[in-house]
Amino acid sequence: MTTNWNFEATYLDLRDIFYDRGPVHPVDKPELVLWNEALAETLGLDAVARQDVALFAGNRQTDTSFSQAYAGHQFGHFTMLGDGRALVLGEHVAPNGKRVDVQLKGSGPTEYSRGGDGRAAVGPMVREFLISEAMHALGIPTNRALAVVTTGEPIMRQGPKHGAILTRVAASHLRVGTFQYAAAAGSIDDVIALADYAIQRHDPDLEGEPNRYEQFLGRVITRQAKLIADWQLVGFIHGVMNTDNTFISGEGIDYGPCAFMDTYHPNTVFSSIDREGRYAYANQPYIGSWNLARLAETLLPLLADTQETAVDIANKLLNDYTETYKEAYFTGLAHKIGLYVRKDGDDELTDELLRLMMESEADFTNTFRALTLGDTNSLAFAKQDDGKAWLSAWQKRLGDQGLPDEDVIRLMRQHNPAVIPRNHHVETALTAAERGDFNPTHALLDVLRKPYDYEADYGRYVSPGPPRTYPYQTF
Ligand code: AMP
Ligand code: MG
Ligand code: MG
Repeated sequence: MTTNWNFEATYLDLRDIFYDRGPVHPVDKPELVLWNEALAETLGLDAVARQDVALFAGNRQTDTSFSQAYAGHQFGHFTMLGDGRALVLGEHVAPNGKRVDVQLKGSGPTEYSRGGDGRAAVGPMVREFLISEAMHALGIPTNRALAVVTTGEPIMRQGPKHGAILTRVAASHLRVGTFQYAAAAGSIDDVIALADYAIQRHDPDLEGEPNRYEQFLGRVITRQAKLIADWQLVGFIHGVMNTDNTFISGEGIDYGPCAFMDTYHPNTVFSSIDREGRYAYANQPYIGSWNLARLAETLLPLLADTQETAVDIANKLLNDYTETYKEAYFTGLAHKIGLYVRKDGDDELTDELLRLMMESEADFTNTFRALTLGDTNSLAFAKQDDGKAWLSAWQKRLGDQGLPDEDVIRLMRQHNPAVIPRNHHVETALTAAERGDFNPTHALLDVLRKPYDYEADYGRYVSPGPPRTYPYQTF
């Protein structure tokens, strides 16, 4: 069964401080340049819904559209924000009953633009499309990109660029920053209304539970801990883990200055704006906990009658974050080296592997791929004594497991992507897209959509790329 867009807007039941419903800003010559057919299918969209380029261009006012208010800690500093260049078209209810937000990014200025032009350039919108598809294929919770339209209008970004609008789909756009906004701009009743709304959207089984806010906070904490463990396990660096980019749903969002690590080093930072390395690879788990502490603060009055008890509850849940994260991360690492059940000593074994990788400046993805393929001779550390010692300790541990090789290899294939969005391939695709050539983007998407297919011929897409004389930077 398929349907036209089936938009609702339950978010508008919140008080109007939570949104802006300003006018749309039509663009001249919208042209559909990227389309996600697989996603369109899961949304149950019919032919009419798919061809609605005017909708994806933000050219048409709908009854259900709004821009969201939020606040956030950006690089540690609290700011009032909001969708300065985004418009939620509505909540699409698919034929299977699933409700998702459909949002335009780059659709023009809103009440929250703070002097910005409300627009986006084609390169960054194609990056979001590529990275979110890669994430989805990797099995990591993420919002998804449905379409990119070019606007036919130039915008200024370090020189003139072609304007574009991304249509993206998310479980919701509620974020830690939405709660911070409610607490800062509203009253306790607004925080309660928002929490009830978030529970209705994401944890409806908690509705009516006496301690639902505590359980809700616990759920968000669990989702974020698992998300960040997933990121660590594929070497993904988000780059802007601000509280406004930390989603209640546990989906990743806003793939701007993000990048996948090539050469393994825990201190890796790609974002040009992250001068202090706040969002470096190894810091991501701590930042996740910091961001969730900001959420917990807004919910304190809902957790207990006294501040003291509420703080105790919040601290306990935040400690659970560390446990959940470690469990997910170290179990994931064990799986990456073929161990089904994580035992005593395994964390030391995987830690030592990471140390060897760091010292030998190994490629993160290709090291685990080589281990999966049994191609250990290709690893630089295999020639060193400590490397040899690690390989034999690993083989011994695998042997103790007492499982056939094929079972071990199957597990490793499931946890070690053979291909990730390599920075140089992403850059090539974006540069071509800026010239109006989307062929490299399509070719890259084809590969990124099957990252665990060890039978596929990935060709040049597995190459770490030419050695760099300067660090790769994203903007
Ligand atoms: P981000 O770093 O993409 O999460 O964005 C942070 C904030 O800046 C959000 O409130 C955005 O809406 C806003 N913003 C980013 N770019 C623009 C723009 N070109 N015009 C208006 N607001 C923007
Ligand atoms: Mg308003
Ligand atoms: Mg954002």
